[in-house]
Amino acid sequence: MLDFTHDDWKARAATLTFRNQAFIGGRFVDAADGDRFDCINPATGAVLTRVASCKAADVDAAVVAARKAFDAGHWSRAAPGERKTVLLRLADLIRANLAELALLDSLDMGKLVTDAATIDAPGSAHFFQWYAEAVDKIYDEVAPTGPGDLALIRRVPVGVVGAVTPWNFPLDMATWKSAAALAAGNSVVLKPAEQSPLSALKLAELAAEAGVPDGVFNVVPGFGETAGQALGLHMDVDCLAFTGSTAVGKVFMQYAGRSNMKPVWPETGGKSPNLIFDDCGNLEQAAEMAAFGIFFNQGETCSANSRLYVQREIKDVFVDKMAALAASYQPGDPLDPTSKMGAIVDKAQTERIMGFIEAGRDSANLVCGGRQVTVSGQGLYVEPTIFDDVAHGDPLAREEIFGPVLSVIPFDTEEEAVAMANDSVYGLAASVWTDDLSRAHRVADALHAGTVSVNTVDALSAQTPFGGMKQSGFGRDLSLHSFDKYTALKTIWIKYRP
Ligand code: NAP
Ligand code: MG
Repeated sequence: MLDFTHDDWKARAATLTFRNQAFIGGRFVDAADGDRFDCINPATGAVLTRVASCKAADVDAAVVAARKAFDAGHWSRAAPGERKTVLLRLADLIRANLAELALLDSLDMGKLVTDAATIDAPGSAHFFQWYAEAVDKIYDEVAPTGPGDLALIRRVPVGVVGAVTPWNFPLDMATWKSAAALAAGNSVVLKPAEQSPLSALKLAELAAEAGVPDGVFNVVPGFGETAGQALGLHMDVDCLAFTGSTAVGKVFMQYAGRSNMKPVWPETGGKSPNLIFDDCGNLEQAAEMAAFGIFFNQGETCSANSRLYVQREIKDVFVDKMAALAASYQPGDPLDPTSKMGAIVDKAQTERIMGFIEAGRDSANLVCGGRQVTVSGQGLYVEPTIFDDVAHGDPLAREEIFGPVLSVIPFDTEEEAVAMANDSVYGLAASVWTDDLSRAHRVADALHAGTVSVNTVDALSAQTPFGGMKQSGFGRDLSLHSFDKYTALKTIWIKYRP
């Protein structure tokens, strides 16, 4: 697949068929009211297919199916080793369908098919495999009580997990939520973003083929205000895992308060700082990674390193390097393996990004980029854009733009850099570049972020927890800590004659 040419991908795209119904109780079904919405390819404007638009009645049917499956116990009470076998099969099926899954995400939301085929889809297989392999290696606890008492502390699945995901990494976000939840024995009802429902529906097909029992994994495509709200307010959803914007994360916490007080686990926005100190020994690498940190996935990444703090002595040299690197990220057809950046997900997001850029022309120095462009006369694309000398209070430095727009802010001292980096409502990720080991530890300790990467950006793996502080949310995806969200602690206390 890595040697697929542009023509190979285009040929595959031309013959691709799309799952476009909801997946409820083990069957693909239309929405109860028959409603559908357009699924649009932002690189061409073409309607790929029309997808079932689920409403409260469909969400309710999915939750009922999920509850029924949970209570039946074929999955929830199966030995962990049995769930492991099924989820390993699912990981294999994802690998067997890698090209199709990669194409679905690329066509649906504009990301580079090469990235989807080398990062997103293999990542999904890896995460399912990782949780499958983990689940029969976790032991419960026995409390240190005295003789005559045996207190078992068990981790039990919470029941029906609602999952609501964004469009920037459609398959991976669906996976991050469902792999751990399913491995732990829960049933899942997933609502993918309206912009990118196709890979989640394919995942449902593959899960069924792998042997996930009917009703255990359900997908209800639809809009946030209808399907998402119905899931958030549902009285029989036991926990709600959300990835998306901070504003909508807060709405889900309100839904919980208005309904059954379900725990809500929000993974939300970010405005991640990247700090470059003048004692960084490899400025070339720092610049390359800084460019990757903002331009990868068109900047539509929650942990994108969108604030670049550079020590004043090296700032101009560094910005020159960044401008040269930005030139290599010019947007191109997402299906062309030589393209370095894809299309923006939709018109609204493109307009939002351009709004920040237009305002920034007056408030900061535009170094490069700044234009909305087309590729072969079509599609929604934004040039890789860098603003220099951005004021600390400028929206460019404070708000999540979610596009290929970098704000450079000079600093003089370590204290000043840390203070500016931390003066944000967000706390998802941060990066630090320095060759001074003490400074690396000191700054990493001081930064308010769920993940601090030292001499790299966006470090992430199945083995390490991912999530935010402050208004970037709470709870963690990935690693064994993800099970904290999808399991409840149950104490079973047994009296016996000592
Ligand atoms: P979004 O607008 O918050 O949407 C996320 C999900 O919530 C979508 O499925 C959406 O459905 C649904 N939704 C929207 N409004 C709703 C409502 N009133 N009630 C119930 N559900 C509702 O976010 P997005 O634009 O898709 O994604 C971008 C955001 O995600 C960024 O802020 C980014 O930082 C964040 N993100 C965070 C992480 C992380 O791990 N921290 C990872 C990736 C992305 P619709 O599609 O119908 O709107
Ligand atoms: Mg789309």
